[in-house]
Amino acid sequence: MIYLDHLASTPLDAQVLAAMLPWFQADHAGNAQSAHHHPGRAAARAITQAARAVAALVDAPPDAAVTFTPSASEANRLALAGLAPADAPLLVSSIEHDSVLRQVEGLRAAGRHVAWVPVDGQGVIRLDALERALAEAGRPAVLLLMAANNEVGSLQPLAAVADLCRRHGALWHCDGVQRVATGALPLGGKDRSGPDMITLSAHKLYGPQGVGALVARAGLAPATPWSWGTPPTALIVGFAEAAQLVLERRAADAARLAALTARLWAGLVQAVPGIVRNGPAEGLPGCLNVTLPGVDAADLLLDLPDLALSTGSACRSAAGQPSHVLTAMGLDATAAFGGLRFGLGRGTTDAEVDRAVALIAAAVAAR
Ligand code: PLP
Repeated sequence: MIYLDHLASTPLDAQVLAAMLPWFQADHAGNAQSAHHHPGRAAARAITQAARAVAALVDAPPDAAVTFTPSASEANRLALAGLAPADAPLLVSSIEHDSVLRQVEGLRAAGRHVAWVPVDGQGVIRLDALERALAEAGRPAVLLLMAANNEVGSLQPLAAVADLCRRHGALWHCDGVQRVATGALPLGGKDRSGPDMITLSAHKLYGPQGVGALVARAGLAPATPWSWGTPPTALIVGFAEAAQLVLERRAADAARLAALTARLWAGLVQAVPGIVRNGPAEGLPGCLNVTLPGVDAADLLLDLPDLALSTGSACRSAAGQPSHVLTAMGLDATAAFGGLRFGLGRGTTDAEVDRAVALIAAAVAAR
């Protein structure tokens, strides 16, 4: 099996597993909320240290609040339901993750003012439209805009967006799940030079599944280390170890993944006539989204049992809907159903990329 779905989930790094293991053992049984004995305090200390490591991923100042959550989807929910002002108009990019869109839909149905902000043909927010929406909101709004898109790898102009939000007094929640493994995403401080809140996920960073985080500028969030219930110390420690590894490896990983992605695209262009790339050529390292002309991507995957790949929006294609990201970029429904997403990762090799190209070319030719 060739695993090319790292944007959905990354394999656990061995060093992360080693850091977590002691926290699953009997002598680390403490509940971080039990302050009256040593094991409880040890767990609480480990979580406080972990919060610092995770905050460092987004260059957060020491007074930023880190709240660990059971997933990034839950961190997105917390940002919107827990921290953002309850009556502020919502400005939402048309390419947000489903966990954001579902919640926005619920709030809109309940009467909240929601304005959609469009993207261009490369999946990048239209700054003119954002500026208009900020002005038309008439009062301080909340912007929901991710840093890097999980289907097409488009990267948003962070400094320009922060500047617009600051000038219009808007709060910016940024889903940073896909960005931080290979690029910088600094949280804004008092100067408002970046997002006010950032969502992160451990299992996109070679950490464990089951833990995410919301990092928020000082004053926005209560300093509770876990969103509810008993914090899973082992998972949180694993998240911190994964974050430290990212900071050590980020530049090298980004360069290697960009080169592998270029190799994959060059191979596919040669091997599959008429193939089209969706999204920018210089996007998120490791992400490539293509449309295979006349081919339904979900169907094609049935012919590729040795490749772990994604259509980019599994739930939508299961529901008979095309990708909302590709349609927001202007693709028609047929082309959007053809979208196939590759997510390359730290462990991906040249040989795997070449083999994947050969398998896809053979499957397309056999149709
Ligand atoms: N946000 C983005 C951009 C994602 O790509 C994902 C997962 O694919 C999520 C949020 C949800 O992450 P989690 O699985 O941790 O809930």
